Amino acid sequence: MTNAARIYLDNNATTRVVEEAVAAMLPLYTEEYGNPSSAHAFGAAAGKGMRAARKAMQGLIGAESEAEIIFTSGGTEANTTAIRSALAVQEGRREVIISTVEHPAILQLCDALEKYEGVKVQRIPVDAQGRLEIEAYRAALSDRVAVVSFMWANNETGVIFPVEGLAELAHEFGALFHTDAVQAAGKTPISVKGTAIDMLSLSAHKFHGPKGVGVLYLKKGVAFQPLLRGGKQERGRRAGTENAPAVTGAGVAAEIAAARLADDAPRIAALRDRLEAGILNTISHCTVLGAPRDRVPNTLCIAFDLVEGEGIVMKLDRAGIAASTGSACASGAVEPSHVVRAMGVPFTAAHGVVRFSISRFTTEDEIDRLLETLPAIVADLRALSPFWSENGPNLPGQMPAAQ
Ligand code: PLP
Repeated sequence: MTNAARIYLDNNATTRVVEEAVAAMLPLYTEEYGNPSSAHAFGAAAGKGMRAARKAMQGLIGAESEAEIIFTSGGTEANTTAIRSALAVQEGRREVIISTVEHPAILQLCDALEKYEGVKVQRIPVDAQGRLEIEAYRAALSDRVAVVSFMWANNETGVIFPVEGLAELAHEFGALFHTDAVQAAGKTPISVKGTAIDMLSLSAHKFHGPKGVGVLYLKKGVAFQPLLRGGKQERGRRAGTENAPAVTGAGVAAEIAAARLADDAPRIAALRDRLEAGILNTISHCTVLGAPRDRVPNTLCIAFDLVEGEGIVMKLDRAGIAASTGSACASGAVEPSHVVRAMGVPFTAAHGVVRFSISRFTTEDEIDRLLETLPAIVADLRALSPFWSENGPNLPGQMPAAQ
C-alpha cells in the first residue's frame, strides 16, 4: 500500500513534519552546519534559526519573554528537568504531587524518586470521566510539597485538566507548579503569562515538528537547577551542543501551529465528532472515554465491549489505517493502560480501548473510510468471543472493573 493510500490517525503518538520545517532544517545539515555557539558565519546561521525558534515557542505558549524558553531533547527531558529542579531549589520540601494518569515520563520518574531518593509522591486520582479529583488534591497540599505536576491534556483520552486554577492552589502552599503540556500545544490555546504556572513542557514532534526537540518553559524569577551541566548553552540551564537544525524546524512548526490554531481546532473537532457519531451509530456496545466537554479537539478514545483493542488495531493496520490501543505491555501480557484503569473502566470494555488521534492533515474522506472499515472489524472479532451472541453480550454474571 502506498503512503498516500494509508490513513494516519495516531497523531498523539507523533505527527508528520510540516514541509516548511523540513525546508528550514535541510540547509542547516549541509550548508550552514556551524555550532550555534561559534563566533563565525556558520555559527551565526545556526544561531539565527534558534533565535527564531525561541520566539516561536514564546508565541505558542504566550510566555512573557524568550528567555523563559529552554530547549531540551524532548518532552521527557523537560519533565524530568522540571521535577528535579523543583526538588533541588525547594529546600526542605520532599513531597511531589502528580495525578494517576500522567505520562510515564512523569510516573516512572516519580516512582524512582520515591524508591531511591526518599521523596514522598502523592498520586491524585481521576473520576470515571478522567477528570482530576480536586478535593483529593486540596487535601494532599501542604508546606512539605516542593512541586505539583499535572498534565494539561491527557495523551490517551485528550481530557484537559484546569491547570491554571490547579497552579494557583499549589502557590497557596508555596509549592511550584509544572504542567506537561505536550498533548495540549497546538490543540488548545495556551497562555502562561500572568498565570501561576512556573514550568511547562512541550515536545515538537507532537505538533508537526521533528522528533528529539522539547521545550521547558521556566517562568522568569523561578529558581532553577539544571539537569545537564557542562557548557554554557541555553544560558547555562541545559548543557550540550544544541540540535540547531531540529530546533529550527521545531520553531517553524510552532509558528505554523500557533497561526493556524483558531482555524484548525474547530475543523479537527468537527472531524472527531463525525468519527465519534459515526462509530456510536454503527457499532453497538461501545463507550467514549473522557469528559466530552473537557477534551482537546483531536482525540477520540473509545472502548469496544468484548473485543481486544490490539485485534482492532492490527486489523485496521492491515486495512491501511493507523490507530493505537489504550493498552500497555506489562510483563509480556497486554493489560489495560494505567489511564484506563485509573478511570475504572469496566473489565468488559477496558481491553477493547482504541485511540484515534486526528491532525490538520486528516480529511473527511479518511474519516469516512475508517467508518466504512471499522464496523466489520469489530463484528468479526466479537464473533470470536465466547461472551458475545447475536443479541449482544452474553456474560456469566457481573464482571469486575479492570484492576
Ligand atoms: N508527555 C506526554 C503527555 C506525552 O504524550 C509524551 C509523548 O508521548 C511525552 C510527555 C514524552 O515526550 P517525548 O517523546 O518528546 O520525550
